[in-house]
Amino acid sequence: MVMKDRDTPATRADRLAMVASQIESRGIRDPLVVKAMREVPRHLFVPGDMQKRAHDDTPLPIGWEQTISQPYIVAYMTQALGLHGQETVLEIGCGSGYQAAILSRIAARVYTVERIPQLARKAMATLDELGITNIQVREGDGSLGWEEKSPFDAIMVTASGPRIPAPLSSQLGLHGTLVMPVGSRGQGQRIVRQTRISRETFRTDQLLGVAFVPLIGEYGWRADRKG
Ligand code: SAM
Repeated sequence: MVMKDRDTPATRADRLAMVASQIESRGIRDPLVVKAMREVPRHLFVPGDMQKRAHDDTPLPIGWEQTISQPYIVAYMTQALGLHGQETVLEIGCGSGYQAAILSRIAARVYTVERIPQLARKAMATLDELGITNIQVREGDGSLGWEEKSPFDAIMVTASGPRIPAPLSSQLGLHGTLVMPVGSRGQGQRIVRQTRISRETFRTDQLLGVAFVPLIGEYGWRADRKG
């Protein structure tokens, strides 16, 4: 799973500085996560006019009123899944494809769903340019999950909903882990981690406070409202 090298000395240096000052200094210690954050060229996942800001400590616009998440939040949510390398992972909210690319450096395979077709196509093109072959991107309502590819060892939702969508919990394998921002629309939310400890039983942990764009769909928020 080697990626094509699309770096310049400057983009590599900026990214390594980002990982040291925003990721490691804030306590992200999982070596697989730190390695992935060092490897994946974040600047290729942001629009051309944003590339100078690609390593800033902030989310950035990627078009269609959506964002690529702050680097620290990407690392934090990835670490919260506790991946080891053999997993099948589902991501909901592909956006730029950056989070999927990070997951693809750690897990065996990644499935990712995006509701905005233009973003899904752009993400596919970027992942293709990097020669990443263990990610499948699908357009559609990810609040329904991806039944045919389930069960998943891990699920990450990168848009916020009022609650964890029931189809996602049911597509989580035994001992699988899901992370998702849950809370009010357009305000602060909290990352919730759900672990399946038996067929019928889940453990829930409340993690970091965050602010994410809404999950729009059957098991998320309605499309006909902004914010
Ligand atoms: N993970 C992305 C990345 O690395 O660039 C950032 C995700 S952005 C914060 C949230 C994304 O979720 C947006 O691209 C949005 O269109 C998408 N989204 C919202 N509701 C969705 C749904 N029901 N199914 C799939 N994608 C959805």
